[in-house]
Amino acid sequence: MITLDSVTLTFPDGGSRIRAVDDVSLTVRPGTITGLTGPSGSGKSSLLAVAATLIRPDSGTVIIDDIDTAALDLAGAARLRRERIGLIFQQSNLLPSLTAREQLTVMNELGGRRGAKAAANARADELLERVGLAEHGHKRPHQLSGGQRQRVNIARALTNEPSVLIVDEPTSALDSERSQQIMQLLVELTTGSSIATLLVTHDLSLTPHLHDLRHMMDGRLVDA
Ligand code: ADP
Ligand code: MG
Repeated sequence: MITLDSVTLTFPDGGSRIRAVDDVSLTVRPGTITGLTGPSGSGKSSLLAVAATLIRPDSGTVIIDDIDTAALDLAGAARLRRERIGLIFQQSNLLPSLTAREQLTVMNELGGRRGAKAAANARADELLERVGLAEHGHKRPHQLSGGQRQRVNIARALTNEPSVLIVDEPTSALDSERSQQIMQLLVELTTGSSIATLLVTHDLSLTPHLHDLRHMMDGRLVDA
């Protein structure tokens, strides 16, 4: 669950500061997707960064599940992200030299737990199957389509069974049919695993998939 209460985030802007997020309160419950639309520069990505605990707000509270993130130090926030938050962005940020399956296991291998490799491989195969890529685990990014790369990205975000997914324009590089499929997949994963998903999209044809839709303007949530 994501609970934002009166969140404000400013950035320096010449001599003054710009309110990228201005007094935003928002709740996303487990098993639901809240969509966020709004013009470029309205603060959508900034709001996601705050919800993902990547940036600390100037004021207001960010609660993930039942954890008040203001109480966490940097290591605590990193651990919260690793254990509870999945991030999916427009660019898939896959490593070119790794297979789809390795994209999902590399973090566990870097973590270095002994004997964890077989478990990580089994988990990767299960996730690839869930996103419809069971037959493609051996392929590298250049051998996959844009939609398939985004599926790998989604599977990777699910590796640690997050309770929260933060998704920024996941379909902006895809055609409309692939976009619908990716959105459908995100809905299935969100409801099937009781995840609280906050998702920015420009594409209004995708919004029927969502449980809730909010609009942003000049850093504020506004009525449609
Ligand atoms: P959106 O995702 O809706 O396009 P952003 O959240 O990226 O909007 O940006 C909101 C506002 O905050 C914009 O005016 C942008 O220029 C500003 N902004 C975003 N990130 C930074 C940053 N790191 N430093 C300074 N200003 C920023
Ligand atoms: Mg943005």
